[in-house]
Amino acid sequence: MASFYKDNADLQWYVDHGIDWTPVAELAEAGFRHPDGFKSTEEAVQFYRDVFELVGTFSAEKIAPVAAEIDREGVHFDAGEVKLAAPAEKIMKEVAKLGLHGLTVPRSLGGMGCPLLVYMIASELLARGDVSLMSHIGFCGGMAAALMFYSIMEGSATVDGTTGDVTTCRFDKEIKEILAGKAWGSMDLTEPDAGSDLAALRTRAVLDAEGTWRVTGQKIFITSGHAKYHIVLARTEPVTSTDDPLAGLQGLSLFLVPAFSGTGARKTWHATFDRVEEKLGHHGSPTVAITFTDSPGQLIGQRGEGFKQMLLLMNNARLAVAFESLGLGEAAYRMARDYAAERMSMGKSIDRHELIAEYLDGMRTDLQAMRAVAITGAWHEELSRRYQLARDHAAGDDDVARARFDKLHKKHRDRARWLTPLAKYQGSEKAVEMARMALQIHGGVGYTKEYGAEKLLRDALVFPIYEGTSQIQALMAMKDTLGGILKNPQAFVRRTAQARWRSLSSRDPLERRVAKIQSQSLAAQQHLIQRTATDKIRGLAGVPVTKWADTFLKNWDPKKDFAFARLHAERLTRLLIEEATVRILWGQAKRDPSRRELLARYLDRAEPTARDLLERITNGSDRLLGELSAGDDEAAQG
Ligand SMILES: Cc1cc2nc3c(=O)[nH]c(=O)nc-3n(C[C@H](O)[C@H](O)[C@H](O)COP(=O)(O)OP(=O)(O)OC[C@H]3O[C@@H](n4cnc5c(N)ncnc54)[C@H](O)[C@@H]3O)c2cc1C
Repeated sequence: MASFYKDNADLQWYVDHGIDWTPVAELAEAGFRHPDGFKSTEEAVQFYRDVFELVGTFSAEKIAPVAAEIDREGVHFDAGEVKLAAPAEKIMKEVAKLGLHGLTVPRSLGGMGCPLLVYMIASELLARGDVSLMSHIGFCGGMAAALMFYSIMEGSATVDGTTGDVTTCRFDKEIKEILAGKAWGSMDLTEPDAGSDLAALRTRAVLDAEGTWRVTGQKIFITSGHAKYHIVLARTEPVTSTDDPLAGLQGLSLFLVPAFSGTGARKTWHATFDRVEEKLGHHGSPTVAITFTDSPGQLIGQRGEGFKQMLLLMNNARLAVAFESLGLGEAAYRMARDYAAERMSMGKSIDRHELIAEYLDGMRTDLQAMRAVAITGAWHEELSRRYQLARDHAAGDDDVARARFDKLHKKHRDRARWLTPLAKYQGSEKAVEMARMALQIHGGVGYTKEYGAEKLLRDALVFPIYEGTSQIQALMAMKDTLGGILKNPQAFVRRTAQARWRSLSSRDPLERRVAKIQSQSLAAQQHLIQRTATDKIRGLAGVPVTKWADTFLKNWDPKKDFAFARLHAERLTRLLIEEATVRILWGQAKRDPSRRELLARYLDRAEPTARDLLERITNGSDRLLGELSAGDDEAAQG
């Protein structure tokens, strides 16, 4: 039987050797104290392996064979109701029967109790079969897990500190419905005038006289937005002026809004599905515009904290895009590799021609690099969440344990925050590149529908757009990186000196090469900080000397002062990705010499890229900044 897990040696390496499952399994299994739970890490990991085998086989045997049919049929929109393609509906029933919607939901709530990392890896396997169907599957189990987490965070769930069981949960009913395959959820942020700029959201929620929240507004581009359960970001706080912080992200709150209640003839609608978008790809995944009109909703958490809470869902979704990208990338690489081995040109198969051989080698290497960053990011995210829960629930009255869990939570939170935009950017951009290469390797037939290469490209093109565009990921990575330096310049100087020292003196040539790329990344960061500070100092010209200290140290205007860094944000992000990738692969190579070959192969590609990026950041033209600034001044003068 075909299996997308069994045929993937790199993925199996992670499951068997690469991932440190010990803290993950221990935390997920509440220290193996549950009478009905696993008794050791080995037992738990064997279960995770069984899940990967099940999902890998399901994806290869059931999903991949109907992917083209799902793509052709698309979704149906009739009389305000949305339906998936017939083969997709059938698969969804089987997914529910296999219990996969409950993958990460605790066993006490009817799920399998697996870690988030298991869900992410399963997403890669499903996406290799068909990424659009994977998206819809994600909006079932993923939303059930999110609802449970929200309930825990706001304090409406009860967690047994000893067994880890969630004994009560505010969204118990919704979770049960989702697990049974009778409902799913969606994440409703985007509006016609608010996509990347969520501070511009207009959807509003008001409390009526009976104390019920009523949500009004239109959301567009909502994946699986024909859902029953919508997690909606809406404006709740009255504002006094346009520069009131409550007019921006701080005025947003999160709601659970059912689009309807009841079933069949007894269905009552609380919202309207306006349309289903006709898209370039992702034909198996409905993208819906929905209007809420005084729709009753339940506030999740505290008023004004909606954006913060939404980030939890969005960060996980961004990591999930990295795993989707991996699944699609694997499909593209394998399709291209197999075709190239068969297709003859000028006396030999095209995979023996240098140019095509290099494309294939690059695709294989990029996939392994993407997996390294995605899995490491998801591992930190997992431990960040688990230690947070341990701090709040398992620690009980033990202050020492609480402090230890808090420290670990923060350590992993910071690393997850560092890697998440990098994984999303790298995964989505590389998936597009790989899908395009797969099409090119197929030549003329690649441009036809015969082999499915064009479908992969159409599907991949949305990765750099949804869950925060590549540009938004780059801005986030830049802001966090430079902000980190400003907060702790001594640590930056120390890191720079250490990297330089290792690049010159390490006895291991691979470590020297890794440290050189780290040095180049740090040099780019230093240049951006210095240039930003120089521009700021230049701006002190008209400011009285007595105000220099305040203006320089306190009055930073993110809109003006970081223009140069924003210009280079994407280049910096690509350099940060090279740095993160080689550091992670170096860590693997130190633990397992069999990974040295991968690191060396990756470095061959990363070195010229890093050199080029540094050169472009430090010596590139900033002509455009002058033009933009002149334009802004003109606009300001009216
Ligand atoms: C298939 C699909 C599924 C989706 N699913 C969902 C979903 O489930 N839920 C949901 O809420 N939304 C969803 N979206 C919406 C998606 O998240 C948005 O399209 C995305 O955030 C971009 O917003 P926008 O389309 O308004 O583009 P804009 O924000 O208008 O951006 C246009 C371009 O400008 C760039 N840009 C914007 N601001 C800046 C800046 N400050 N600096 C530099 N560049 C900038 C962007 O990167 C982009 O290239 C989906 C979209 C698609 C296509």
